[in-house]
Amino acid sequence: MAKRDYYEVLGVSRTATEIEIKKAYRKIALKYHPDRNPDNKEAEEKFKEAAEAYAVLSDSEKRRRYDQFGHAGTRGAGGFSGQGMNMEDIFSNFGDVFSEFGFESFFGGGRGPGRSRSRGGQRGSNLRIKVKLDLEEMAHGTRKTVKVKKQIQCDHCEGSGAKDRGAFSSCSTCGGRGVVTRITNTILGQMQTSQTCPSCHGEGTIISEKCSKCEGEGRVFGEETISIEIPAGVTDGIQLSMSGKGNAGVRGGAAGDLLITIEEKPHPHLVREGNNVIYELHLNFADAALGTELEVPTISGKAKIKVPAGTQGGKIFRLKGKGLPSLNGYGRGDELIHVNIWTPKNLSPEEKKIIERFKESPNFKPNPGKSEKSFFEKIKDYFS
Ligand SMILES: [Zn+2]
Ligand SMILES: [Zn+2]
Repeated sequence: MAKRDYYEVLGVSRTATEIEIKKAYRKIALKYHPDRNPDNKEAEEKFKEAAEAYAVLSDSEKRRRYDQFGHAGTRGAGGFSGQGMNMEDIFSNFGDVFSEFGFESFFGGGRGPGRSRSRGGQRGSNLRIKVKLDLEEMAHGTRKTVKVKKQIQCDHCEGSGAKDRGAFSSCSTCGGRGVVTRITNTILGQMQTSQTCPSCHGEGTIISEKCSKCEGEGRVFGEETISIEIPAGVTDGIQLSMSGKGNAGVRGGAAGDLLITIEEKPHPHLVREGNNVIYELHLNFADAALGTELEVPTISGKAKIKVPAGTQGGKIFRLKGKGLPSLNGYGRGDELIHVNIWTPKNLSPEEKKIIERFKESPNFKPNPGKSEKSFFEKIKDYFS
């Protein structure tokens, strides 16, 4: 059987708030609860289907993936790979939903006559933060835990903004309908227009006694610790977003998004160029002439390289795959080691005498061959 759309399963719109989703799930879970439907296979399937839909839609990250990729987006880590959930999972994960049924009639059912629509509280605003990463973290991906100061849901009233269940009353402006109708006389006859009620903003109820902690806003200024998963291959200035991690909405409205801008911390030795990293190697001219082995820094520890005898200044060695991965997961850059020959600035009389002895030697006479490509040719080779 083809999987049903999760929103359809819960009977909510694609823009439903967290609270609406929870309410919808409670309703279905209660209806098909195994205690009420003993030995009813169909009810059990419906119960499981709703739990699976709720598991995805109540988690902002999973919901985002589901919205983007459909059922395929929920497979793998944390997904349910098609075979659904078992009863034990459901009770251990969402048991709190059942214990809150009393609360449902408290803030949900008790809200006013005939209203089954959303509370329609205003959405929270997006929040922007910067996260500084070094090259190693950008190369391998990382998880950062940050404390974000923001509007959070008021725990005193669970975001409703009301003092208690009795603190709601039907809106007198619209009589609880959420819309107001005006009849105007025009030259074309009577015209009837409907608009969202300005007193209750379409909610149908108004709060008669506000929550003392949030003064009716349903949210307060606070702090949340958020764990941000950063994929390998991010670049300076790139923006990641986490839906629902921004400011809490007003009176149960959806939360805004958290927008995370990545900043690159300069590396002490390496410079990034796209997915490649460049290391400037300074080699003393005896090592360049005789050849040597040495260690160079990379974004994942040190690497040993062999410098062959007769290495010229300007030579570029390439450590394949030692650069950064690309964000889409295909390919990886290299580390390019640019050789600089260090010419001594000060020489002792003895050093001077030794070098002068070789000055006229034919081997010391510059004689670039075909293998010594020009600087521009090398640049073309590596960056084209
Ligand atoms: Zn109203
Ligand atoms: Zn409150």
